[in-house]
Amino acid sequence: MGIWGKEIRTILLFLLVISVVGGFTGLFWPLMFLLLIAIIARQVVQISRFEAWISRGGSKKYPSSVGIWEDLYYHVYRIKKNEKRRKKKLSLMIDQFRQSTEALPDAAVVLGINNEIDWSNKAARRVFGLQASDKGQRIPNLIRYPEFIRYLKANNYQSSVVIPSPVNSNIILEVRIVPYGAGLRLLLAQDITQLKKMERTRKDFVANVSHELRTPLTVLKGYLETLQDLDDGQSPLLTNSFLQMQGQTERMQHLVDDLLLLTRLETQQKKLHCVDIPALLSQICKEGDDLESATRRIELTLESSAHIMGEEQELRSAFTNLLGNALKYSPEDTLVKLHWYQDANSVVLAITDMGEGISKTDIPRVTERFYRSEVKRAKKVNGTGLGLAIVKHVLMRHDAQLKIKSELGKGSCFSCHFPLSIICE
Ligand code: ADP
Repeated sequence: MGIWGKEIRTILLFLLVISVVGGFTGLFWPLMFLLLIAIIARQVVQISRFEAWISRGGSKKYPSSVGIWEDLYYHVYRIKKNEKRRKKKLSLMIDQFRQSTEALPDAAVVLGINNEIDWSNKAARRVFGLQASDKGQRIPNLIRYPEFIRYLKANNYQSSVVIPSPVNSNIILEVRIVPYGAGLRLLLAQDITQLKKMERTRKDFVANVSHELRTPLTVLKGYLETLQDLDDGQSPLLTNSFLQMQGQTERMQHLVDDLLLLTRLETQQKKLHCVDIPALLSQICKEGDDLESATRRIELTLESSAHIMGEEQELRSAFTNLLGNALKYSPEDTLVKLHWYQDANSVVLAITDMGEGISKTDIPRVTERFYRSEVKRAKKVNGTGLGLAIVKHVLMRHDAQLKIKSELGKGSCFSCHFPLSIICE
């Protein structure tokens, strides 16, 4: 029956005593009344003691009591104690979390719904020049770079944005926003100054080496041509050696030209003009046709007359590379189709061949610099491995995308998707 049983038993005992005493003395009702008053008075006293204890926090040892009140005190005391222990654990965890985020080398800022600063770590205070008083300030008022404001407003946080530190423009930061919870966002910034420096050094090195190789190559080619002219054909070994040397110098020349083009694409400012793509494609196909044997056919379909804002030389180079590959990597008696058309989202150049195709594992890698499939290397098919890297860069500079569909033994389709916003006619 538990504690309630005990209470009821005590009351029943009192009732029994009153009934017996009341029966003998004839004072049953007055005694009954007295019992009720006593019970009520006891409860009032207990309630006031309980109220006094709980209003002091209820965590100190409770006053001694009997019956149901002892139990009540015990349960409330236990709940309070557990709560205190949980609070202590939680605040310890928060402290540890704060300490670890404070020690992070990357800057972290918690942003509220209106882009206001809720919290920032030490690195964030250092690289963004934030102070304790900036809590609650809107971040666009403190980091005013237009590219950052655009990134913040775009609400598309798949990518990141690169900006200089507002306190020291020599520090380059890669800023990324990670949304979490209800409208909250975490702004993370990584110092990529060293990375940018290394990238710059790599670009400068490639540009300088390629540039320096041009003169010796031209001299070599010149002498080689003179020697070939002097060759009387008496020694097949000599003739063959000249041919090999000529082939290799030409290959090297292509490599140097492609590397210089890639460097230009990475470093030069764009100068956009309205480019007549149908005319450009017709010209490129004609050049391709002239080079190809009669059996090889290029089929050009101009479904759209769209011109686009772009760099004509760069586009020519990209399209020539794609057409060159389609011709190079498909049998002589198959068709290579070029299709210029517009769909709901973009204007597209698709180049389709019925060649050997590319394996699934190679597709994601063919646009990497110097990547050539093992088969091509083994078969010694001519090429620098830089063509598709050039195509990718040119398309990136035109906000366009390169899509590759290919099946081994059936053929490939390389398509360039330009956004409709760059159509100029
Ligand atoms: P490469 O100078 O070797 O042609 P690219 O960068 O133009 O260099 O191409 C990289 C690799 O992609 C090629 O070596 C080849 O394996 C593959 N590739 C490119 N275009 C095609 C195509 N149309 N059909 C089959 N394979 C292709």
